[in-house]
Amino acid sequence: MGKHVLIIGAGPAGVSAALTLRMRNIDATILHSGKTALGKAHRVDNYPGMPRVSGEEMESAFRSQCEEAGVVYRTGLARMIQKTRRGFMVLAGEEILNADAVLLCTGIGRLSLINGEEALVGRGVSYCATCDGMLYRGGKVAVIAQDASFHEDAAFLSGICSVDYYLERKHEPPQNVTVCEGKIVKLAAQEDGKVLLSTDRGENAYDCVFILRPAVALSQLLPSLELNDNAIRTDERMRTNVEGVFAAGDVTGAPYQIARAVGQGNTAALSIASYFADKEKE
Ligand SMILES: Cc1cc2nc3c(=O)[nH]c(=O)nc-3n(C[C@H](O)[C@H](O)[C@H](O)COP(=O)(O)OP(=O)(O)OC[C@H]3O[C@@H](n4cnc5c(N)ncnc54)[C@H](O)[C@@H]3O)c2cc1C
Repeated sequence: MGKHVLIIGAGPAGVSAALTLRMRNIDATILHSGKTALGKAHRVDNYPGMPRVSGEEMESAFRSQCEEAGVVYRTGLARMIQKTRRGFMVLAGEEILNADAVLLCTGIGRLSLINGEEALVGRGVSYCATCDGMLYRGGKVAVIAQDASFHEDAAFLSGICSVDYYLERKHEPPQNVTVCEGKIVKLAAQEDGKVLLSTDRGENAYDCVFILRPAVALSQLLPSLELNDNAIRTDERMRTNVEGVFAAGDVTGAPYQIARAVGQGNTAALSIASYFADKEKE
C-alpha cells in the first residue's frame, strides 16, 4: 500500500523533503500554519541559482514546484502528534490527519510560555477555543491572543461566555470583548478550580484561560521528543528519538540557513524512504 508522510512546515526544509519523497513515489502533505522564516527574508544572496531573490519569491517558486510534483498543501496548526498502531495521528486545527511517518520542519521554536502555563494545560488552560469552548458555556474566560488571526475564535467564545481579551503581542483587538491592559506575569490554579491570571496591573480569576498562538511548543506537540535546549535532537539521518518521526531545518538548531534546511530536508526524505523499505521487510 502507498505510504504517506505528513510534513509539518512549508519552509525550505519541508519543501525539499516533499520533492524528494515525491520522486520516490511517496505521498507527501505539507501542513503549515503561518509565516515561514523564509518569507520574512527581504533579499537572499547565498542560495545557489537564485541571485538577488526575495524570500517571498523563493517561497512561491518552491510551492509551484511542489504542487507540480503532486505535493498537497494544507493550512492548519498542528497541536498534537500521537502514535497509533499503523503510524501517526496529528491533530491539526479541529481535524485529525493520519500519516505513516511525520517530518517536523517547524522552524525556530521561539515560544516563550507564561509562567505557570505548562502545568495547567488541560486543567484550566486550553489552546483550542472550538475544541474546549463549550465546556465553559455561560462562564467567564480569558483569551490571550498573539495576533489578529484569532478574532474568529474570540468571537465564537464571546457568543457562549463572557470574554476578557489580553494581547500577548500588540495587535488590533476584536469587537464585543473586554480588552484588558497590562503585561501578563503568571497563571496559577486556585482551590475552587479557577485559574488566577496575574498581570502587572492586578489579577482576575477565570473558568478557563485560552491561549491562542500560531505556534505550539515542541513539548506540547510530542512530549516524548528529546530536545536540546529548544531544538529537536536528531542523528545524522535526521531521525528523532521517536521511531517514524524525523526533523529537519531550523527546528534542529543553528546555523539557521536556507541551504542547510534544504540539505536536511533532502536527507530526511531519503531516510524516511529507507524507514518504509525496512518496515516492509519486517
Ligand atoms: C529576516 C530573515 C532573513 C534571512 N535571510 C537569510 C539569508 O539571506 N540566507 C539564508 O540562508 N537564510 C536566511 N534566513 C534564515 C532562513 O530563512 C531559515 O534558515 C529557513 O527559512 C529555515 O527553514 P525551515 O524550513 O527550517 O523553517 P521556516 O522557513 O521557518 O518554516 C517553518 C514552517 O513551519 C510552520 N509551522 C510551525 N509550527 C507549526 C505547527 N505547529 N503546525 C503547522 N505548521 C507549523 C510554519 O507555518 C512554517 O511554514 C533569514 C531569516 C530571516 C527571519
